[in-house]
Amino acid sequence: MPTSDDYTVAWIAPLEVELTASIRMLDVGHKKLPQSPVDHNVYHLGSINNHNIVIASLPTTGNSSAAMVITQLRNTYKQVRYGLLVGIGGVHISNGPIHLGDVVVNEPVDDHSGTIHYDHGKALEGYFQRTGYLHSPPNTLLNAVRALSTEQAICGDNLLSPHLERIDTKSISLRHYQYPGVDQDYHFNSNCSHLEKGKPCDKCGCDPRQKVDRSAQDSEDEIYDDNQKPRIKVHRGTIAAGEKVIRNGQERDHLANQYNILCFEMEAAGVMNDFPCLAIRGISDYADSHKDDRWQGYASAVAAAYARELFFHMPIDDTKGQGNSTGT
Ligand SMILES: [Zn+2]
Repeated sequence: MPTSDDYTVAWIAPLEVELTASIRMLDVGHKKLPQSPVDHNVYHLGSINNHNIVIASLPTTGNSSAAMVITQLRNTYKQVRYGLLVGIGGVHISNGPIHLGDVVVNEPVDDHSGTIHYDHGKALEGYFQRTGYLHSPPNTLLNAVRALSTEQAICGDNLLSPHLERIDTKSISLRHYQYPGVDQDYHFNSNCSHLEKGKPCDKCGCDPRQKVDRSAQDSEDEIYDDNQKPRIKVHRGTIAAGEKVIRNGQERDHLANQYNILCFEMEAAGVMNDFPCLAIRGISDYADSHKDDRWQGYASAVAAAYARELFFHMPIDDTKGQGNSTGT
């Protein structure tokens, strides 16, 4: 029976839909353990490939909530050395192409750390200077990301797809994790705004002529399985974390082009500077006004599947806290 000191990896799944997918990825679940009196988090404990993992959700989304949960977690699980931030995100495709249902992982690019706090900075005379570059993910996790990618390239199979089968989408309560289908991938030009909040694009009259042709963007290696499901693609690069949801295509494009951003999310800025952490984001929307929750289940599932696969590429001694590496 593991004690709290045997857990060395924290897995943060901010939303309930992300938490459920994450729990399904555990090989085995463990019993709850006593917590520090200053720790008010609720945990799900378990293991994947002999790595003991503590999973926590967030009371609310956002950077400050993520920072608070990690701080409290470390009061109880003092040997936790790495974190995985596993959930959904909005994507910018001009640095892609990236589609709904793909995975984005933060990784340093050139001189940049791989994560930017996009609404953090100072107003200087005539312009806004962003000061929000955050720490890089720890080397151990970046090495695991590369090892996973290498194995994927060598074996040619999709390593993530089998993990998705751990979520029984035939069950009514898990049906929303099903692959929605390419025909539900509504991606519009950035100057085309959604017409009626609360209604999907095909019901509210968003101009289909403004839809971006996905097939024209697909690369030649796009592989569809028997269900016409594209294989899950993984993109590595800069993730932008901010305090507000991006729901405007033009604002998204401006930020993304300036900083070569692949994906927008709302929690990494709260943890990256104080805690060695890797952000794994399943793409659920295009960070514009057409954003809805149709892809949230599947996007949560692919992010959780990627996180699970990563545990097969991490050095076991290191994550168990027995190695000498600081992980940074
Ligand atoms: Zn729309």
